[in-house]
Amino acid sequence: MDWTKTNLTSTIDFDAEGRQVGDLRLPYSDNEQPLGYYPIPVAVLKKRKGPTLLLTGGVHGDEYEGPAALMQLLHSFNLDHLHGRIIIFPALNPSAVVAHARCSPLDDGNLNRAFPGNKKGEPTGMIAQFMEEVVLPQCDAAIDFHSGGKACVFAPLAMVYLGARTADEKSLALAEVFNAPYIWSAEFAEQATFNAAAVRQDVPMFATESGGGGGVNPQMVQLVAGGLLRVMHYLGMLDDSVKIPAAGNVAVPIGVGMNGKIYSNRQGLFVPAVKPEQSVKSGEAAGMMYSVIEPEREPSTFCFIEDGIVLSVINRGMVERGELLVMTGNTIARG
Ligand SMILES: [Zn+2]
Repeated sequence: MDWTKTNLTSTIDFDAEGRQVGDLRLPYSDNEQPLGYYPIPVAVLKKRKGPTLLLTGGVHGDEYEGPAALMQLLHSFNLDHLHGRIIIFPALNPSAVVAHARCSPLDDGNLNRAFPGNKKGEPTGMIAQFMEEVVLPQCDAAIDFHSGGKACVFAPLAMVYLGARTADEKSLALAEVFNAPYIWSAEFAEQATFNAAAVRQDVPMFATESGGGGGVNPQMVQLVAGGLLRVMHYLGMLDDSVKIPAAGNVAVPIGVGMNGKIYSNRQGLFVPAVKPEQSVKSGEAAGMMYSVIEPEREPSTFCFIEDGIVLSVINRGMVERGELLVMTGNTIARG
């Protein structure tokens, strides 16, 4: 790790053998921490030779299934079975996590839109720059665990960016091994995400979406935890004695187009008519909008404009014009 590239410091040695848990120290002086530091929890498990796998949760602070699976791994995994190194950040944006918020209350930053970040910037940009320039170059593979947060509920899926880099095929292979029911292949269009940072650093990576709604879906936690063990096994990081959860059906490749995104065109109370993973047809109702503060207004039905599989459903109740209500994807040919 090249610590000259960051203003963050660490209470643990990332290169030491064994099981270490501690803080990254984010220097940021404000009213809460005038002379102290903001701690970013980190754990490193290292034993024998092998690849380095980066695991991150809490990039968005209100998405809890991934952090739960990472804490489960940290406290149940027997280090004696490991070949390599696992770097675990269960709450990479801790100020957002403790605030139950998507973005950091320190600077309103959205960590998954802050890459490549800035070493001397606001806290969110400092974390992004640290991950992109200091941590990712040390990694052989990475998984970033998301869910729908308070805003929506997601079908379980693995999302890969296809950036025409050498790591693309490996990212897809990892996502297939993880075996969430769906794989969302996205073009490398958004440059500011964690996935985009991994493309730039040529590190195989996928992100997950699994559950959400502001709570913890225990089935999704187990799905994530099982997929994680399959990836570690695939990378050769586990002894043969470790029991690997069986994979389900082959994950379905999904693409999302503009016609798959249904946005609200008004303020109102949205009642969804569908659930994640449901197959829907063009013309079918996605949900009903009621103008509760203008009760004389007729309710309106939002309909799908193409066939697809429901990937996300909003979880808000009252919505504003412009909010994404329901998103569908289409199966695409396996590349
Ligand atoms: Zn997220």
